[in-house]
Amino acid sequence: EVTTDMSTFETLESEVRSYCRSFPTIFDKARGYKLWDVQGREFIDFFAGAGALNYGHNNPRIKRKLIDYLTDDHVVHSLDMATVAKENFLKKFQDVILAPREMEYKVMFPGPTGANSVESALKLARKVTGRQTVVSFTKGFHGMTLGALSVTGNSFKRHGAGVPLHHAVSMPYDNYHEDVDSLSLLEHYLDDEGSGLDMPAAIILETLQGEGGINVASNHWLQRVEAICRQRDILLIVDDVQVGCGRTGPFFSFEEAGIQPDIICLSKSIGGYGLPFALTLIKPKLDQWAPGEHNGTFRGHNLAFVASTEALSYWETDELTCETLRKGEIIQRSLSSMTAKHPDTEPEVRGRGLMQGIAFGRKGFAEKVCAIAFERGLIMETSGSDSEVIKVMPPLIIDDEGLNKGLAILDESIQIAKE
Ligand code: PMP
Repeated sequence: EVTTDMSTFETLESEVRSYCRSFPTIFDKARGYKLWDVQGREFIDFFAGAGALNYGHNNPRIKRKLIDYLTDDHVVHSLDMATVAKENFLKKFQDVILAPREMEYKVMFPGPTGANSVESALKLARKVTGRQTVVSFTKGFHGMTLGALSVTGNSFKRHGAGVPLHHAVSMPYDNYHEDVDSLSLLEHYLDDEGSGLDMPAAIILETLQGEGGINVASNHWLQRVEAICRQRDILLIVDDVQVGCGRTGPFFSFEEAGIQPDIICLSKSIGGYGLPFALTLIKPKLDQWAPGEHNGTFRGHNLAFVASTEALSYWETDELTCETLRKGEIIQRSLSSMTAKHPDTEPEVRGRGLMQGIAFGRKGFAEKVCAIAFERGLIMETSGSDSEVIKVMPPLIIDDEGLNKGLAILDESIQIAKE
């Protein structure tokens, strides 16, 4: 067993660093679903950059486009000026994603991260409706900037704000309380003058909560949220930052539910190559921004446009969706059979497509399993407010061999964690 010298990070990097503590080695190279550290140890990636690497590390098709772009000295940084790369991206997004789904949206570039997209969505909803309150849900995660944090249901993260957070009200997510119909409760509150809940500008949600512990909302629940919004002119914001771009099968996570959000937040894998990039999709009538009213230095980077445009080619057919659903079934079967052997860990298999996981009732167990798996060459993160859920989230392009190998390491690690 080799230990890596992490002293540079321990002495020079802020105490806020986190993933380098869970994965204590120095990574050097990466390709597809594999990473290698400086000692040449190979790791299978069931983490995928927290959802930013759906097309894998250094995807060769995308890399070729980036190399060609750089070789020919095309514009790299240009604020939000019009460029060929941006034009190509906008046309391709329209042709491959929006038009086939009969979705009409204006595309906004809010800044490079998911939190930037959420901030822009919240600001726009407040501006358009003239209302201040936003309804969010328990265990939701929307980012670390103050606005995004205000709708994030995690007290540890919220305490970092140090100031009162914006006006947001957290309601129970689908199945948060087994015996409470959360949406009936919300409707009662909205329609009761005495509830103290002001009519909100928007309701913001994830269809499947990633950081919150792989909590899946049913299609019916999502449709009911949409109906509540429509009846009261509340805007519906879907945060597809983590589960969009095909993570659950279809390009948008809400497609199966058949809902039409007013505003959609995308980031992470929309960058194609792991480059920082975000979009906010806005129903045309809501696009009431004045020019420059929400700006920033990195609003759509040309390298990200190039990478993203090539990544969108994966969506010209439904092959990636079908493959994701097929691999999702393999994971589901595998997780169910490995957990059936250990009922004493109180396991529950959750998720959809390539966003699945196991929640363990036994405290500290998920973190222990991840640490053991890492030693055996598998990278996985935990989620949930108590880090009680293991996330199985490989790049979508993983092959069956890599998938089965990773699942075998997980199976073995659960066994060892119990000993
Ligand atoms: N929304 C969701 C659903 C997320 O999972 C995340 C990141 N984990 C964010 C927003 C924030 O994105 P970023 O870290 O790029 O700001």
